Amino acid sequence: MNRAEARIDIGHLSSNIAQLKSASKTELMAVVKADAYGHGLLGVGLSAEKAGADWLGVALLEEAITLRTHGVRIPILAWLVSPGSDFKSAVDHDIDIAVASIAAFKEIAQLPNKPRIHIELDTGMTRGGFLDEWEEFLLQDFSTVNVIGVFSHFARADEPGEKQNDEQLQRFNTMVADLAKIGINPPIKHLSNSAATIKNPSAHFNLVRTGISMYGLSPDISTLGSSNQLSLKPVMQLRAKLHLVKSVPAGVAVGYGATAHTTTQTKLGVVSMGYADGIPRIAKNVGVFIDGKKAPIIGRISMDQFVVDLGADSTAVSGDWVIVFGDGSHGEYTADDWGTASLSINYEIVTRIGPRVPRIYAPHVY
Ligand SMILES: *Cc1c(COP(=O)(O)O)cnc(C)c1O
Repeated sequence: MNRAEARIDIGHLSSNIAQLKSASKTELMAVVKADAYGHGLLGVGLSAEKAGADWLGVALLEEAITLRTHGVRIPILAWLVSPGSDFKSAVDHDIDIAVASIAAFKEIAQLPNKPRIHIELDTGMTRGGFLDEWEEFLLQDFSTVNVIGVFSHFARADEPGEKQNDEQLQRFNTMVADLAKIGINPPIKHLSNSAATIKNPSAHFNLVRTGISMYGLSPDISTLGSSNQLSLKPVMQLRAKLHLVKSVPAGVAVGYGATAHTTTQTKLGVVSMGYADGIPRIAKNVGVFIDGKKAPIIGRISMDQFVVDLGADSTAVSGDWVIVFGDGSHGEYTADDWGTASLSINYEIVTRIGPRVPRIYAPHVY
């Protein structure tokens, strides 16, 4: 019997993929890095392939190899593969590698079987991709590699009005033209993350790389609106057991540091999750959902547990499930609420749900 579960709704995942594919009218890369944003690498990777994703995208080579050895057949791109990595394994597992430095290119280009590469361009984010080495890169010998793709990444796609988006798009086109001049015309060009997939059709090219939106979450709730406003369906529902329910009078101190006190006679619930499971310790003004209403956190979040104020008239008992976050449709808190409550974003909330929490592939429960 689990004390906590992250329930992963594959129906919601499939619906989001279908919606994003029809919005982009291009191929879709399901981004499953970081354990599929906390939703489970294999469960999501294999399901996304079934749901019509054309590609999978990951940061690490080992993520890509895990997917391939567990039966993924569609192309997989890994984009954080540094010089000195085991590029031979990448080629042996038919994994596409993003190349962002001459050092990495030279290691890859000396391998047999024409490794499949995607050239990564720094078009203005100043993180991954070619910038200062570009001119020298264009002088390399490309005859031993198979240049499948060229790509870059937006810094501000979630602010569609920002001119940096246009500048990055222009820079992308210029660098693609530089490649064409030396006879390199990669069949796959890709630039859009979720926000650009939703807001910037001029950046769709042949392929979009969707992460957060595929998980049913908004890339930015303040500029793009909520999941609901974007018609996306949150895929993860997090729930936990009430370890205890106890009646207490007004004025009792709750938790480490006695930072909170009850103001009335009430019932408290001890929720069996804590910061070791990814519940942010700094979260304020958030809590759980039980019996059709919200129960806010009271006191500090501990490593394995936190306490909520259930209210004096609560009928909850030890062993009941509470929803920590869900899609919000029944009034429960959402990953967006937890993001705001901890001065962070939904991406970080779902990604940090810890390995002790089993991922259960099943519809949500209320
Ligand atoms: C994480 C990532 C994405 C996905 O971004 P979302 O905002 O989650 O859609 C796309 N491309 C690259 C290179 C990434 O690192």
